Amino acid sequence: MKREVLLLAILVLLILGCNNNALEGPFKVTNVVDGDTLDLNNSKRVRLSGINTPETGECYYEEAKDKLTGLVLGKDVFLERDKTNIDKYGRTLRYIYSDGVLVNSVLVQEGFARVFDNYKQDTKKYEELKAMEETAKTNKLGIWSCEERKESCLYVGSKKSKTYHSPDCKWAKRIKPENLVCYKTESEVEQLTPCATCLQNK
Ligand SMILES: [Zn+2]
Repeated sequence: MKREVLLLAILVLLILGCNNNALEGPFKVTNVVDGDTLDLNNSKRVRLSGINTPETGECYYEEAKDKLTGLVLGKDVFLERDKTNIDKYGRTLRYIYSDGVLVNSVLVQEGFARVFDNYKQDTKKYEELKAMEETAKTNKLGIWSCEERKESCLYVGSKKSKTYHSPDCKWAKRIKPENLVCYKTESEVEQLTPCATCLQNK
């Protein structure tokens, strides 16, 4: 009987060892770079696989970074490999598990990240992430509220500036959502300065 238990234990270990989905870790998260990038105590920089969060200055950048910070900073996390091991910037591509939840999913689910469609072929959880993104979009969570807020405006500006922009201006994208002002008529911008980039002809 003892021998059978031992054989079973060896078999289980072999199966675990051969499994590509085996988790690596735990590693401690020492730094959060932005909404989808972090540093580990093994001095590796990890890029969360399959997703993309807003860049500096874009709507929801700060919120996404804060969310990831809350989920992982100072915690012991486990990593799961995707189809691609390392991206072109030398960052390790991984799914991250913290406190038993898949962080990549949480960020998509709650509207802090988009699914990275350009890397569909490299993303083994693409379909499940995409389904979560669809729900976040339908419910206009997080980043999915940014565009809509601007598109209904004739011009947009910032509470902190006298310049106004066309809603699709690259500078307008850098206005933080909490500072975003929406102008619906020409008369509202009479006292303001048109942006030199997007409204040259005004
Ligand atoms: Zn502009």
